[in-house]
This record gives sequence, C-alpha cells and structure tokens, in this order.
Amino acid sequence: TMAHSTALLVLENFIGGKFVPCSSYIDSYNPSTGDVYCRVPDSGKEEVEAAVKAAKDAFPIWSSKSPLERSQILNKLADLIEHDLEAFAQAESKDQGKTITFARTVDIPRAVHNFRFFASSILHHVTECTEMPSMGCMHYTSRTPVGVAGLISPWNLPLYLLTWKIAPAIACGNTVVAKPSEMTSVTAWMMCKLLEKAGVPPGVVNVVFGTGAKAGEALVCHPEVPLISFTGSTLTAQRITEKSAPHCKRLSLELGGKNPAIIFDDADLSQCIPTTVRSSFANQGEICLCTSRIFVQRGIYSEFLKRFVAEAKKWKTGNPSDPTNDVGALISKEHLEKVRNYVKKAQAEGARVLCGEGVDPLALPPGNQKGYFMLPTVIAEVKDESCCMQEEIFGPVTCVVAFDTEEEVIQRANGVKYGLAATVWSGNVGRIHRVAHRLQSGLVWTNCWLVRDLNLPFGGMKASGIGREGAKDSYEFFTEVKTITIKH
Ligand code: NAD
Repeated sequence: TMAHSTALLVLENFIGGKFVPCSSYIDSYNPSTGDVYCRVPDSGKEEVEAAVKAAKDAFPIWSSKSPLERSQILNKLADLIEHDLEAFAQAESKDQGKTITFARTVDIPRAVHNFRFFASSILHHVTECTEMPSMGCMHYTSRTPVGVAGLISPWNLPLYLLTWKIAPAIACGNTVVAKPSEMTSVTAWMMCKLLEKAGVPPGVVNVVFGTGAKAGEALVCHPEVPLISFTGSTLTAQRITEKSAPHCKRLSLELGGKNPAIIFDDADLSQCIPTTVRSSFANQGEICLCTSRIFVQRGIYSEFLKRFVAEAKKWKTGNPSDPTNDVGALISKEHLEKVRNYVKKAQAEGARVLCGEGVDPLALPPGNQKGYFMLPTVIAEVKDESCCMQEEIFGPVTCVVAFDTEEEVIQRANGVKYGLAATVWSGNVGRIHRVAHRLQSGLVWTNCWLVRDLNLPFGGMKASGIGREGAKDSYEFFTEVKTITIKH
C-alpha cells in the first residue's frame, strides 16, 4: 500500500532490555536521495538517566560473570550479526551513504570481528606479580570493571566504531550506555534487536539515540558514568573534556586527522598509486585515517601526478546501492557544502584542481539528483599554510605537493596540529625506519594502508587524541587496576 511504501522507519531507545519510545524525534536523511526516511529519538537527560539506572542495576551480575561466560555471549552476538550481514550492510549503506560494497566488505564484517576479537582476547590477559624476598612480600595486580561506560561514536563508520567500544567494554564486565551519531543510528538499533537472543542480560547494553548537545552531553555530565570513550572531532572532544572535568572522568578520545602520505622516488608506484587513491577516497574520504596530504619527491612528482589523477578518475561515483560504484554520497548537505568550500578556497589561493569537483561532470541517476555526491578531487600546488593542508576536510579531497629531502618532508608532514596516521612509500628499509620513527603519528603504515592488527595500540598523537584502543589498551582503559601486597 501507499502508506507502507512511504512509512518512515521510527527508532526507539533500548533501555533495560526493552525498546522504549521517546517523547520527541529528529529526522534522519538518506544521503543518496536527500529524503527524510527515518525518525530518531531526540533523547535528553531523562532518557539518559533511565539508561544509566538500567546499566547500574545490571552491573553486579554482569561484572561477576566469568570472562568465559561473557566471551560466549559476545561470540553468539557476533554470529547473529554475521547471519544478518546483508541486512546490516544494506541499512548502513542507506543510512550513511557509503557504497554497499564497502558496507559489505568493511563495516559489518569488522563489527562482527570486533565482538569475536574481544571475546577471545578477554580470555588471555594476565595480571602482574612481583616478589620482594628481602621484605618477605609479594605484590600482584588485580583488574576489575569500572562500572557504567559511556560510549559516543561518530557517523562515518557507524556500527564498526560503536562495536569497537561496546565489545571491549562489556567483555571486561562493564555495562554500557551508548550514543551513536544522530545521523547514523539505524544499525545500532538493529543490533539491539539481537541482544536478548545472544544472551546479553537486560541493562548490560543500553542505547540512547539523539544529538550530541542533548543526549551526548547528558551522558558526559552524568555523575554515575565514570568513563567516556569517544570517537569524533577534536572540537567535540574539547567540549567533552571541559564538561566531564568536574567529575574527573576517565576519557579515551579518538579524534580527527590530517594524514600525510610520503612518497619517495624509489617507491613502487604500481603499488603506491592505487593504494594512495584508496587511502584518499575510500568511504568518500570519510575515514579518520584517510590520506589528505600527499608529499611526492620532486623527481617523480609529475609522473606521479599524471598516474594518480588517471587512477582517481577511474573511481565511479553514484548510487551507493549499485555495487559497481566506488564512491557513494557524503553524510549530509551541510557536510557536502563544507567539503566543497575547501575546494573553492584552494582555487582562490591559486591551487590547481586536477580532477573532480568543478572540473569533471557528475552524472547521477534520476533518483539520486538530490543526493550529496561529490567526485574524488585532486588538488595540486597547495601551500602548506593553506587551510586545505592544515584542517581536516573529511571528504573525497586530497592535496598533492612536491618535496626535495627527507629532512624537509618530515618537518612538513609534522607541521599540522594532528597526528593520527601516516603512510610512507619507499624501497629503502633504512629510510623507512628513520622516517617512521620521526613522524608524529599514532600509526605509520609503510608501503601499505589500513592493514590492522587489532592487538596493537590504535589512536592519535597531538590533536588526534588521548589514549589508545586495542587488545591490551582497551582492557586497561575499561578496567581499574589495584596493587595488592601480601606479607608472609
Ligand atoms: P562529532 O564530534 O561531531 O560527533 C561525534 C559524536 O559525538 C556524535 O555521536 C555526536 O552526536 C556526539 N557529540 C557531539 N557533540 C557532543 C557533545 N557536546 N557532548 C557529547 N557528545 C557530543 O564527529 P562526527 O562529525 O560525527 O565524526 C567525524 C569526526 O570523527 C572526524 O573528525 C573524524 O576524524 C573523527 N573520527 C575519528 C576516528 C578515530 O578513531 N580517531 C574514527 C572515526 C572518526
């Protein structure tokens, strides 16, 4: 019926194991059509209060379960999400604008893996023990869950990043109140539907939907939420730090980047060029780890530029549900406008736009004319001081510039406020180690990009964040440690 085909998807908060409606709602858009298709609870203090209470009530039982029991539940949840992988991928693509291929191969498989990874890693931690025979003492550490964890996640990799927080938090025995981005709430809501079947007791995972200003801040300011794990922008992190300061909360902050790729003249360009196109434009450039400043050694600069632009032009932009497309829609109209403005500013400063925005035609199917699309855009001859080389753009825009020496490029790569991820391309092992060592960056990929071992620390330096996530790091963040001394 008509009513059916035009009916909006209406989400509800998930509190204490039950879906509960909210008194007011906000609109959520389908980025590839520009239509409102979903209504998201506009939660505030009241809803957060109820969720924190449910989480507190669930804590004693959940925290006293053995790691093995929790591990089995996490694995079950992973299986259930995997069973519905296609439905989750379709929903993520529709809600976020990302291509169905990306959602199928990256977002949802990684969400499944996050649960399996922490289900396993929680079984393998050991605490420390030292002996002090001269004092007749031994010391050991014990780790216990902290309590109710507040988890706040962004819109670019919705379920992927939310589960990267939920999984370690509950594996360690905490209970959680999560607040996904108001722009991408659907897959979190879908996951809530699977919790009971997985055996997650009511109140262990609560999800409160809504804006950062209302729901997010209520969570950050709640006195009974002792830790906040946040992924999002540096600006929001500053606000969260201020707001949580009166309570001395434990914070993990995973923030923005302005990630350099450094390409030396001995790099294997046949590997480097397609990978750097991918690192610049994957997920519409909406990944905190995306490359947005490409430094190319002068001797290969013009060849690189020619081949890089040719490769970038091969990327097809359009309807995200078409699996032959490589680039989908940006998250919102406002964000598209912001990203486009950076290209205009670069042009006004005298930079050259080599392909994409304003240069090449963008042909969209009739149903996508009002979507938030933009072609992969390559800009050359941008000055290091330009806002395009200093600020996080978070869209399909990358700047290519030339450099001469190793010393010079290290200084220039480090010359931004951020320090999240860098890539280095060279065939010279000594140089790779030297440069990697000196880059101010939480992650350095050499001759590759986005190859992750979840065991190892993930996170940024400088304005890119505080704290790290990973097997050991997340375990340490989500537990309290105590040192106990025994005299015999
Ligand atoms: P954002 O900071 O605007 O929002 C992130 C989350 O915080 C959302 O859920 C939002 O509702 C909430 N929020 C906003 N204001 C808040 C407040 N005052 N109090 C509490 N919560 C609040 O970020 P975004 O635009 O959703 O995401 C893009 C940013 O995230 C980029 O800067 C990107 O680099 C960064 N990011 C970082 C990583 C990482 O791991 N380092 C990963 C992905 C994205």
